[in-house]
Order: sequence, then structure tokens, then C-alpha cells
Amino acid sequence: MIRNIIVLGAGSAGLIAALSLKRKIPNLNVRIVRSPELGVIGVGEGTTPNFPRHIFDYLGISRARFYQLAEPTWKLGIRFLWGPRGRFDYTFAPQLDSHWSDLPRPNGFYCDEEFSCVDIPAAMMHQDKVFARQANGAPDVQPWHAFHIENTKFVDMLEIVAREAGVEFTDGKVTGSDRGDNGISAIHLEDGQRLEADFFVDCSGFRSELLGKALEEPFESFGKTLFCDRAVIGGWDRTTEPILPYTTAEQMDAGWCWQIDHEHHINRGYVYSSQAISDDEAAAEYKRKNPKAPDSPRVVKFRSGAYRRMWVDNVVAVGNAGGFVEPLEATALMIVCAHCQTLVDFLLHTELDPTPGMRDLYNELTGATWNDIRDFLGLHYKLNTALDTPFWKHCRADTDLSGIAPLLEFYEENGPTGFCRYRLPTTQNDFGIEGYFVMLVGNRAPYRKRHHATPQEMAIWNKHRNDNLAHARRGIDVREALAYVRHPGWQWHGDAAPKPKPQPQPAFA
Ligand SMILES: Cc1cc2nc3c(=O)[nH]c(=O)nc-3n(C[C@H](O)[C@H](O)[C@H](O)COP(=O)(O)OP(=O)(O)OC[C@H]3O[C@@H](n4cnc5c(N)ncnc54)[C@H](O)[C@@H]3O)c2cc1C
Repeated sequence: MIRNIIVLGAGSAGLIAALSLKRKIPNLNVRIVRSPELGVIGVGEGTTPNFPRHIFDYLGISRARFYQLAEPTWKLGIRFLWGPRGRFDYTFAPQLDSHWSDLPRPNGFYCDEEFSCVDIPAAMMHQDKVFARQANGAPDVQPWHAFHIENTKFVDMLEIVAREAGVEFTDGKVTGSDRGDNGISAIHLEDGQRLEADFFVDCSGFRSELLGKALEEPFESFGKTLFCDRAVIGGWDRTTEPILPYTTAEQMDAGWCWQIDHEHHINRGYVYSSQAISDDEAAAEYKRKNPKAPDSPRVVKFRSGAYRRMWVDNVVAVGNAGGFVEPLEATALMIVCAHCQTLVDFLLHTELDPTPGMRDLYNELTGATWNDIRDFLGLHYKLNTALDTPFWKHCRADTDLSGIAPLLEFYEENGPTGFCRYRLPTTQNDFGIEGYFVMLVGNRAPYRKRHHATPQEMAIWNKHRNDNLAHARRGIDVREALAYVRHPGWQWHGDAAPKPKPQPQPAFA
């Protein structure tokens, strides 16, 4: 029976894991061990909608507190400056996996020429607005958003909340471990301490001290599907630029560049393949296209892939210690939150005495999430026909998408019909079939079963888009919305909700 857990690492993965365990299983003793000397990675600023759900609904952190301590801005989706259209917007609401009742076909069939303002969040993005305005002038904050959040502020906030929840902290660098019958029995710190626990959560980032180094679990590269392995990272302080309510992902000669808009700072990073260009060439292209960026951006090296199993013996890895893919869809924290919930469910359902079968199932489920994200990201590259640099030619020719071959074949035959979902792998994540449609339609991927819309249909279709646009024009921008939610009189509805009465619920989430 597990009573004492050590979480190794206090980056966002370690803190979210410790807090999830302590909040949901309060009788566990949860201790974080972390090395202030090694610090945290300090990048990871975009999120997806499962992040607010995890922070507010699952961990019970109040919105007021989160906004005060973490100072986030809102993210409605990703603007892709990408592919033959040059630009399209991916929102967190269903744009293409949706169907107007006054039109015969789903939305994706009407986007051949123009793919913009298909839903209200997309129209908001088009107008640089974040939410609709209520009759009293205040923002109508809808749940279809995620956040941009500075990694260090977020980590600082989590530490405060974790300490309040009863998580204990030990500062020190882990230098070794002892093995016992069930896996790892204790870890050794540089200062001579030896710390025992029944269960270890490895959140040591790319170092993967326990799963990778101590237990020597094999790492499986995603190198056949994802070719990028480095990023140059920088940014500049905001002057007159509007605060954009979305992340930008812009194609570059050997990869792509993100832009994340914080309130006072703009964060820009170029993810590239070191096989295609050198660090100096990447920094030069980055600077040429972003004159305000620093002359010597920080270089971060990474490898895309995941350990074969996330859970081995009494060690589970969460976050970069278990796997990593580039931040093209900002999926890292999405995976951290999802895996923490799965882990808590598995511990609760086994009454803190996990069986080998449950461990195998955990590894199957978490492995499937990694593969799913690998293939989704690979599709972004494979479909992009806009650039003819050696890197992009290599992506089109060689990206391995065998993991989603049935979906791509079905799409090529039938186009963006909702039935495509039955050809998707069965994992759950924030993008689902909608994400695939946005990439396929956004990149004008060809399909055979075309719908030839009549002029009347197109008139109805364009009226819907124009209505969205008119709605967005009356919306509220990020700066004004931030002023509203920081006003002392502002009330977050979710925070004021009374504690729900116990209800019957499904046997597992
Ligand atoms: C270029 C880039 C861009 C990214 N962008 C995004 C994004 O937009 N959105 C997103 O969700 N994610 C993004 N990520 C991923 C992001 O880094 C992670 O989501 C997140 O920060 C989790 O990191 P972590 O906690 O796993 O690791 P880290 O932050 O590296 O934390 C590791 C912890 O382990 C401790 N540690 C390590 N070794 C030892 C030891 N021997 N002894 C004691 N302590 C130890 C460290 O001190 C630290 O506390 C990005 C990553 C990269 C590289």
C-alpha cells in the first residue's frame, strides 16, 4: 500500500503532479525533492483548454487567485501562418466538425476558398478580440479559451498552493538511488541525505533521473515523424503591439516560429531541425524576421519521443521526464494534466495498491496519447506545400504518418465529414477530429467526394460568417478584459459556486 510519495522535480510537471495527488488523495504524504541549482526549464507558456479545467475544476484553485498570482493572458487558439492559404485559425471550439441546420453539408465543405470566421472564437481572433461584450460592457468570459502563462510565474504560484495543500519540500540534488523488491526504495541527495518512499513520480525534466537513468527504460524516438530537435528562444518587452488573444505558429525555412503574447512581454521561439540548418543560421533567420528579438537567443536542444513505458515498478514519469514533443500545439501541459488525472484514478481504483494489470493499462493509455500527438504534429508538416526548402521537401516526402493512415485514406475519399472520427485512434485529447480537420482543410489537403455548393448555399454560409464577424467587432480586447477581471468588484462565477452535493458517477473518469 502506497503511503509516502516522493515527486522528483518542481517544474510545472512536478508541482501539478504533487498537487493533484495531495488534493485528490489527502491521506498520502507527498514530498517534492528538487534542485534549486539545476532550476526549471523555464519555457512552456502555451496551454490548451484542459489546463483551465485542471487548475480550476480539478485542483480547485480559485480563478481569483490564479489570475492574481500567475497573471495569465487568454489564448483562443492558434493562428497558423502556414501552408498554401498562408493563414488559418485553429480555435478550441468546433469550427469544422459542425453543421448548420440550414445547410446540407458540414462546415468543412464550404471552406475551399475562404477559411476564416467560421465560428465566433475564430471571428474574435480575426478582430484581435478575446470575448463578446455583455450589455453592461463587461467581457462574457467563455470556457472556449486556454491561457498564455509565463513558466516561472506559474511555477511560483503552484509552489504556494502546493505548500498550503500540505505538500512538503526538500531542496537537494539527487545523485543516486537504492533498489528494492518493488523498484526504487530510496534516493540519495548530494548532501548525504537518504530519502525513502513507497512510490516515486519522476518529474526531473529531460534528465529523467529515475525512469531513464536509474531504471534504464528505453526511449523511443519520434524521429521518423518529427524532424525538429532545437529551438532558439527570445522575446522582447511589449511597446505598442496589441496583446494578441492567440498563439501564432509561422512556417520558417527549417521549421516554424511561435509567438506567445504575455501582457508585458512577447515571447518568440524558432523550432528547427539541426540536420537542416546550424544554430547560427537559425538565429540569423529568427533575427531577420523578428528585428526586435535579441541578437543572441538561447538555444534549447530536445529530442522528440517518449519512454517505452511511463510506469515501471514503483516509478511513474510525468512531463518532460516521460516524453517530449515540440510545442507546435502546446501539448506538454495538456499531457501533464491528463496523465496526473489518470494516475490519481489508477491509485484510487486500486486503493493505493496498484496491480500489474493496472500498471500495464496505464502504460497502454499514456503511450497512446504520445503516439496520437506525434501523428497529429507530423500531419502539420506533411501537408504544408508552401515552401520548397530542403527541410520542407523532406517533411512532405518522408514524414511517417502510418499511425493515422486509415484516417488519411478515408479523408482523401470522403472529405471533412464527421464520420472520419471512426477512423481515428481512440485516445482522448483536446484536438480530436476537429484538430485534424483544421489541418487538412487549412492546408487544402485534396479529397475526392467534393460538394459543389450552390450560390444559395454559399450566400447562407457567408451570412453565418458575417454574423460571427459582426458579433466579434462588438467584442472586447485583451487589455480591456484584463482591466475588468482585475477590478475589485469582479466576481468569478465558478469561484462562488457552492460545493456540489455527492452524486452517483461513472465508475471511472
Ligand atoms: C522550446 C520549448 C518550448 C515549450 N513550449 C511549451 C508550451 O508552449 N506549452 C507547454 O505546455 N509546454 C511547452 N514546453 C514544455 C515545457 O517545458 C513543459 O511543459 C513544462 O515546463 C514541464 O517541465 P518539467 O516540469 O517536466 O521539467 P523542468 O521544468 O525541467 O523541471 C525539472 C525539475 O526537476 C528537478 N531536477 C532535475 N534533476 C534533478 C536532480 N538530479 N535532483 C533534484 N532535482 C532535479 C529540477 O530542479 C526541476 O525542478 C516547451 C518546451 C520547450 C523545450
